[in-house]
Amino acid sequence: MKLGNFRHWDPDYTSAGKTGLVKGNKGEAVVWDDYAEAPERLAKVVTAIRAAVEHHLSSEVAEQALGGGDEPEIQEAEEGKVLTRLHRSRERDRRLVASKKKQAMAKFGKLVCEACGFDFATRYGDVGQGLIDVHHTKPVHTLQPGDKTHLNDLALLCANCHKVVHSTRGWLEIDQLKAALASGKV
Ligand SMILES: [Zn+2]
Ligand SMILES: [Zn+2]
Repeated sequence: MKLGNFRHWDPDYTSAGKTGLVKGNKGEAVVWDDYAEAPERLAKVVTAIRAAVEHHLSSEVAEQALGGGDEPEIQEAEEGKVLTRLHRSRERDRRLVASKKKQAMAKFGKLVCEACGFDFATRYGDVGQGLIDVHHTKPVHTLQPGDKTHLNDLALLCANCHKVVHSTRGWLEIDQLKAALASGKV
């Protein structure tokens, strides 16, 4: 029946005068629009959701990812709600965040936004020490099940830049963020 619902949106099917099953829900049109022309991406997204459920179901991360609240300011990725939440929960993984910050401190002696150069400690003094967001540059569906996150996949961003990255449906790459920053009027 679900396939019948999708057929309702398939021009190849309806052009023959058939309608498919009309009593579906709104989500089917959305999924059809997103994936009818992108079967490979669909397969990746499905694999990633399955892997998330199978490999992480008992972990705290998955609990947040699958049951966590929505974040109104975060634009859901094309990959949908489950992978958006999983992505965001991975960005908050304490162990990874701590190692990324440690690496940057060892290398540069400070934590600065990779896009705009903002330094919380310089701007806010002591209370700004150690503050910076960690952004994961690879969408969940591009990872293979069991892939470990490398520190190179993480970018340090100030809260403003991080918000902008996630403000569009196809989350911005760091270079696109820098270009956006350059296009703004200061
Ligand atoms: Zn910034
Ligand atoms: Zn992010």
